[in-house]
Amino acid sequence: MDFNKALDFYKQQRRKIIAQNYVGFVSSWDMETEAKENSILAESEQMAVLSELSYTLTTDPNFEQAVNVLWQNKDKLDEVLCHEVEVLQKDIQETKKIPMEEMSAYSVLSSQAYPIYVRAKTEGNFELFRPYLEKIVEFAKKQVVWLDGELHGYDILLDKYEPHYTQTQYDKFFDVLKQRLVPFVKQVTQQKPIVPAWATASYDVAKQKEFCEYLRDVLCFDKSRGIMKESEHPFTTSFGTEDVRITNHYYENNLVSSIFSVIHETGHALYEQQCDKALNSTLSGGGASLGMHESQSRFYENMIGRSKAFWAVHYGKLQQTFPTLQSVSLDEFVDYINLAERSFVRTEADELTYSLHIMLRYELEKELIEGDLKVCDLPKRWNEKFFDFFGMTPPNDQLGVLQDVHWANGSFGYFPTYALGSAISAQLYHHMQKDFDVEQSLQSGNTKAINEWLKEHVHKFGSSKYPDEILQYAIGEDFDPTYYVDYLINKYTK
Ligand SMILES: [Zn+2]
Repeated sequence: MDFNKALDFYKQQRRKIIAQNYVGFVSSWDMETEAKENSILAESEQMAVLSELSYTLTTDPNFEQAVNVLWQNKDKLDEVLCHEVEVLQKDIQETKKIPMEEMSAYSVLSSQAYPIYVRAKTEGNFELFRPYLEKIVEFAKKQVVWLDGELHGYDILLDKYEPHYTQTQYDKFFDVLKQRLVPFVKQVTQQKPIVPAWATASYDVAKQKEFCEYLRDVLCFDKSRGIMKESEHPFTTSFGTEDVRITNHYYENNLVSSIFSVIHETGHALYEQQCDKALNSTLSGGGASLGMHESQSRFYENMIGRSKAFWAVHYGKLQQTFPTLQSVSLDEFVDYINLAERSFVRTEADELTYSLHIMLRYELEKELIEGDLKVCDLPKRWNEKFFDFFGMTPPNDQLGVLQDVHWANGSFGYFPTYALGSAISAQLYHHMQKDFDVEQSLQSGNTKAINEWLKEHVHKFGSSKYPDEILQYAIGEDFDPTYYVDYLINKYTK
């Protein structure tokens, strides 16, 4: 195959892969927002066929040959295509090592496991989910055997979610947190904070939605290119820059939960919407990695959403929506949304204690994948480790081992990207402030200047570069957790 023929073939196949990705995008959106348990179970066979089609497209020998020819002629490729081909080469080689029938069977397993997990969590019944989780862990362990090469064991899974990040990098990062943050958290959270009565009062869900819509406008989410619906756990998904979807969850007795979810998810959404549109016809759109994605959502949630400067402008609107808040001052509100407390649930954790929840999961995953921890012993091990980190024991598995959906999806290696993203957001914030006065910009009533900075430094590249390259471009530095720890200690010392 000569270069021109390879390029032609590559582009044709890429159109098919993109269309296939679209089908995956729509069906998974449907499963997580609309479909009932029985519908999901009935449709698992279709998901298996789709995963086989996608497998066949990626491992097509002609496609592999085309990719290899392009890689041999990489000096003729533009920067985006060059990176894309490099990533694809690795992807093809890895996919080929996994037997198709295993992939297909796993797809059936994971679509069946999801509704069972939801039921097990609702009932607080780990035993119901255990047989599924055992099979999921078994598949993850097989994967590390199939993909063994330059990387081994758990590192193989970590690298899938965050390229160039393995236990060496994460251990270094978490060691810094252990040395400086863990003792600080113990000291700051010694006394249980008093939760004001207004925080758990009843707030009309329709009104909450109205305020969350207002926040999407404030943060400049382009509503002509995306929607917001509801799901058990809020999330963001997208198909290029033109179809970006987020979800939220409303609790009548927890007003701030939906507020921080919409700010967080809009951070993810802006990353997608602000990508270079030219990347839509490539495989290089979307976020560079999960860690980079989380750095954006955390940036909006914490640096913007928990700041007094932001609420100085928007608290009036919240009081107008919920007149009972007239008796709560701006300072009281801002103090409350920045309370630090040791708690059981990761998604409800505050900014200070959040990464401790991640370190717990990281250590358990290591034991599951590389150590001798068995799934049947997981709830017990979770509670022991939780006690080590937090000094308390979850009263049930709902608030313990069953709280997160990730393991039901087979996403081992995903969790550490949450902590990494939080830390990167602090590093970006530090450098953004050197370029302009972020607080002053928030007083203008919207986040245009912040969005623009993030677009130019991070978003526009999509996944056309590795995350560490984007960080170098954006701030001229490698990842450094010191910014994060300094930021938290400084904030919570005040
Ligand atoms: Zn997120």
